[in-house]
Amino acid sequence: MTSYTNIRGGIGVDLWITEYQTADLGLSCRIKETLFSGKSEFQDIAVVDSHEFGRMLVLDGVFQTSVFDEYIYHEMIAHVPLCTHPEPKKVLVIGGGDGGTVREVVKHRSVNSVKMVEIDGLVVDVSKKFLPEISIALRENHPKLDLTIGDGIQHMHDAESEYDVIIVDCSDPIGPGEGLFTYQFYKDVYKALKPDGLFVQQTESPFYHQSLIKRLYKDISALFPITQVYLASIPLYPGGLHCFTMGSKKYRPQDEPVQEIPDGMKYFNPAVYQACLNLPEFIQKILVSNS
Ligand code: SAM
Repeated sequence: MTSYTNIRGGIGVDLWITEYQTADLGLSCRIKETLFSGKSEFQDIAVVDSHEFGRMLVLDGVFQTSVFDEYIYHEMIAHVPLCTHPEPKKVLVIGGGDGGTVREVVKHRSVNSVKMVEIDGLVVDVSKKFLPEISIALRENHPKLDLTIGDGIQHMHDAESEYDVIIVDCSDPIGPGEGLFTYQFYKDVYKALKPDGLFVQQTESPFYHQSLIKRLYKDISALFPITQVYLASIPLYPGGLHCFTMGSKKYRPQDEPVQEIPDGMKYFNPAVYQACLNLPEFIQKILVSNS
């Protein structure tokens, strides 16, 4: 969360990039080369080619995705909600500029349309060029996809009873993503969903972002009758274990028969769907404690 782009090295010296995940902890990757480095209206953007993670997208010094492990995050943020809703037809993705989430969403036969609202057009352009396997649905202008470059907070504010499933594939709660982690935003998400709709947001590390996870769980529970945190192991992210939080108006993942899973999954399957909902003791305590 606290970080800045930090690429160190020189002629004859190894090049490393570090994400400062807390004030006292960093993840450093030895890199082969910097493929892109620039600045948009919203953030610093870099794509580096690293030895362990392959090509990686880095925004304001924070590792967003890598070709090595991106399938875990993108399958889990997309298929858990889409396999909980019995017939998701209209889906909204907020953020997700690398295209990995919409790549997964369009695989669902029931989905007719996916609207993606990403604030930063340069993230989309850079991903199309340097992360072709992740951004394939963007590059090919998939017929189900409608991409808008704009602010997801404003879009949510204007939408009413429109979507079956909303996926908030956002960066950290700093910069343009800050307002995506607020009670007001969740009120707008509730309003933008149909009467049986549900949403999911990536909600960071259960080791290093406990107060954020607790606050979001409280805010979402105050609005939605069903709130569910679920987990996935993602090596690129702080602590290697990542939280997602679902707010649902009607469908409870534990109670629903797993809906049809598209072919070609690398992480997600019916057993993972059930398993990811079971939380270790320390995470259950974070969610219910009053402190
Ligand atoms: N998988 C990633 C992670 O957990 O780190 C998130 C990936 S995706 C690149 C996050 C995207 O959210 C970024 O491209 C960023 O520009 C976008 N974003 C941030 N704030 C936004 C907003 N208010 N509206 C729409 N998109 C936003």
